[in-house]
Amino acid sequence: MAEFDCRICGSRDEHRMVRAREMMFGTREEFDYFECRQCGTVQITTVPDLAMHYPPEYLSFDDERPSVLDETFAKRLAARWAGPRLATGRGIPGDLVLWLKPWVADHFPPSLRHPHLALKPSTRILDIGCGRGHLLRTLRCFGFRELQGADAFIDDDLELPGGIRVYRRQINEIEGEYDLVMMHHSFEHMTDPNAALVEVKRLLAPGGICLIRVPLANAAWERYGTDWVQMDPPRHLFLFTERALRSMAEKAGFDIDDVVYDSTSFQFWGSEQYRRDIPLRDERSHDIPLNPLSIFTREQIQAWENEAAELNRERRGDQACFYLRPRA
Ligand SMILES: [Zn+2]
Repeated sequence: MAEFDCRICGSRDEHRMVRAREMMFGTREEFDYFECRQCGTVQITTVPDLAMHYPPEYLSFDDERPSVLDETFAKRLAARWAGPRLATGRGIPGDLVLWLKPWVADHFPPSLRHPHLALKPSTRILDIGCGRGHLLRTLRCFGFRELQGADAFIDDDLELPGGIRVYRRQINEIEGEYDLVMMHHSFEHMTDPNAALVEVKRLLAPGGICLIRVPLANAAWERYGTDWVQMDPPRHLFLFTERALRSMAEKAGFDIDDVVYDSTSFQFWGSEQYRRDIPLRDERSHDIPLNPLSIFTREQIQAWENEAAELNRERRGDQACFYLRPRA
């Protein structure tokens, strides 16, 4: 126990302290966190020099691979037709494409299929913390035209095919007006999330909506403690609770439209690996698709997938998507 000011709710209290290790790359460097007694947010006590914890491998891991949807003319055409159907639930040509090529739907981000979003190809979308723009490139394949990204940890601005611009910027340096501002697992990397929400409000056009996907300190945190894979020290500065994020959003002037839990078996197999001292980027890691060295059976992974679905129903999964609208 030690006395700290919670950087989320402001409470000064004797908070429980824990020490966690870097295990994505397996440097095993240790970092101190505390768990706020008031709002439940688990947070790093001192923010380290972050740039050194985002080596080139961190960003390139997903982003170097071209989108499957971009491989052939037929795939490009299928995605282009299916996109509006997946985004809006309407469109007969899209129905036909998805009947013929149902796998196309697997590439569309589930969080963007929420009925309240009503996306159109002309929707102005900003992805904050987009890395090298992997998701934006996928959305481009699905026919979205107004795509922009920002990331504080890339080396330089990028211009991607199809006119997608990605800027090396902090959230307060981003300009423009957007119908959808989204953060897919980037909000927990920001040093001042309360200020970030105010910036999001500035960037939203009238009628706009914000989507924030974050890890949440729930059942997996209780079960695995500092071996919880989504703690990811020191990159994750804050592991929020639903209650904490709701109250932050309200304080920043948002109404909460919806909160959808979307956790997966990752919370189990990743944390079980850390318990056994196996880093996420280890050669034995289940993170590598179809890895013959993985220590888990397919049956075990499926059982965890089912358990994750159950936790999501109970609103205790280890991540969720928040849909926020500026209060009128
Ligand atoms: Zn707090």
